[in-house]
Amino acid sequence: MRMSPDLSHHQARQEKFFSLIQDAGLSAFAINAGNNLEYMTGLRFDLMERPVVAFFAPEMPVTLVLPEFETGRAKACDFPVRLFAYGEDPSKWDAAFAAAVESLGGLRGSVGVEARALRVLELRYLEGAAPAASFDTHDELLSALRMTKDAAEIEKMQHAVDIAQQALLAFLPAVNVGVTESELAAELTLQLLRAGSGPGVAFPPIVASGLNSANPHATPTGRRLQEGDLLVVDWGAAYQGYISDLTRTFILGKMDADFARIAGIVRQANLAGCQAAAPGARAGDVDVAARAVITQAGYGEYFLTRTGHGIGMDVHEDPYMFAQNETKLMPGMTFTVEPGIYIAGRGGVRIEDNVVVTETGCRVLSSLERDLLVVG
Ligand code: ZN
Ligand code: ZN
Repeated sequence: MRMSPDLSHHQARQEKFFSLIQDAGLSAFAINAGNNLEYMTGLRFDLMERPVVAFFAPEMPVTLVLPEFETGRAKACDFPVRLFAYGEDPSKWDAAFAAAVESLGGLRGSVGVEARALRVLELRYLEGAAPAASFDTHDELLSALRMTKDAAEIEKMQHAVDIAQQALLAFLPAVNVGVTESELAAELTLQLLRAGSGPGVAFPPIVASGLNSANPHATPTGRRLQEGDLLVVDWGAAYQGYISDLTRTFILGKMDADFARIAGIVRQANLAGCQAAAPGARAGDVDVAARAVITQAGYGEYFLTRTGHGIGMDVHEDPYMFAQNETKLMPGMTFTVEPGIYIAGRGGVRIEDNVVVTETGCRVLSSLERDLLVVG
């Protein structure tokens, strides 16, 4: 658990959340351990066998059920909070939930929960403590709040991008014929940590060479790099709760005219996607623009994924860049633009950047060279 120094932010977020809760006709919202709880309170709890649930009810203090040994840090919040702590005997945990619900006047009506985050573990305690309430999934309330980042969040994301870029440059000398993908993934992880990523890295890096590069979600293997291989590297850093997620593609030893042409198409698609990102555009327009470049070049069937996904505290979050997504882009929204061409039996190229929508268009947070570079 770590505390943000800027607690006034959390109260402002809670106020916005309370009005969304009311607009949705809910009496309260229950959030368990994870990024949304940290976003609302600055309190970081890992998802473990002991349930942690925070109740957000308009006009009420934030009401938190948590293990006794976690209460010290939770008491330090500078917004109104009520704690209901339990010890190590699980048979007493339902009493803590009952007392918390009691303090909220006994929950009734519709209480919001997150389909993508709440576990059956927490749900059973909630149902037991509040039999008069119905627990209904409203993930969209938190998505709506988190989708638009403030200046402090964007600064953290820029920092996560800077760390990732620095790590990649330190990593490149290790890329040589004969080295395995797994060794390179370990080296890149090390360089990310050295450059200041923490805690840990954004996600385990993808290092995919040769035929493996044609798989958009490859995991590193013991395959040794060979001359002429395409090499897709997809990596990201973590910084103060925010992440980056970048991809660059390299070629081993010597340039290949065909791969260079394919990489040029992907680069144009990446540029078109970034240029389509502007306030008032649809999220889907980013996908349409990037896909049009690849389709017109005759490779449409090899662009196997959507063009991107939102990023922030999570590696994948709203908005998602697929053609049908009608979400209107607004200043402060952050997402990836990552078109690719993946040809089974030959190889793949992906170029992934992180962008933020501005008042007038979009700003690309990542600046590493995008051309197909010869390495090794
Ligand atoms: Zn990625
Ligand atoms: Zn991505």
